[in-house]
This record gives sequence, structure tokens and C-alpha cells, in this order.
Amino acid sequence: MTAPSRPVPWPDSRTAEFWEAAADGRLLVQACGDCHALQFYPRGHCVRCFGSDVGWREVSGRATLHTFSVVHRTWSEAFAADVPYVFAIVDLEEGVRMTSRVVDVEPERVRCDMPLQVVFRKLEDGGAVMPFFIEAVNPL
Ligand SMILES: [Zn+2]
Repeated sequence: MTAPSRPVPWPDSRTAEFWEAAADGRLLVQACGDCHALQFYPRGHCVRCFGSDVGWREVSGRATLHTFSVVHRTWSEAFAADVPYVFAIVDLEEGVRMTSRVVDVEPERVRCDMPLQVVFRKLEDGGAVMPFFIEAVNPL
């Protein structure tokens, strides 16, 4: 039996620039043109000042692990080959929190506050390039 297809990113006018940058190995977050606040996930307005002048800014990709969960059982057979995997909420050094996965680390070694660095991986079956995080080799 063949596993069902994974849900894949579906870029739209609000997110296309983020996905294009990811394919180029760059991590973007939204930046408000009025109050300069950064935010993630993409929205049509600034969550701080409600201004509509939101653009994109490249960030370093350095982060620390805020919290995580090791997933042993998936809600979809499409992810069955991935388990166990580490679902993560990371704090980018620029002050933005985002969801991702920690990869290339044994789940038993993952700890909150561990230093991380973004990496970009192309999904095998979807063609999209996704940002994930690895343990930082030389954290600041
Ligand atoms: Zn703002």
C-alpha cells in the first residue's frame, strides 16, 4: 500500500516570497514598515501596530529551542516514515518564534534552550524546500 501524499506548502501572494527565499537557502520573516516589528507567520497586517505595510526581512537562522515534542505516532500515514521526529517551537535570535522540526539530532538528546541553526531541505515528494533546524555547531 502506498502512503498518501504529504500536505505541501501552497504559496500564495502573501507567502510566495518566503517560499522562494527558502528555496534559495534564506530565511525570511515579515517586517513592519511602520513600527519595524518582526513577525512570523505571514499575515496581511502588523500584529503590533495593525499597519498594513508589511514586507520581508532576511534573518540569521540562529535560534534556541523554546519547546518541543517527539512525535512517535502520526495523524497521517504520509508522515509514518518520519517518526520519531522532533516537532519544535524555536525562538529566532531576532525575537520571532516559529514552528519547525529539529533534525539530525537523536530525539533523546534534544533539550529546551539548545542552540540551533536553520537548514533547508527539499521534501522528497512535494518539491518544496522547507526550513528545519539542526543543533548549532558554533553557537554564539
Ligand atoms: Zn507595525
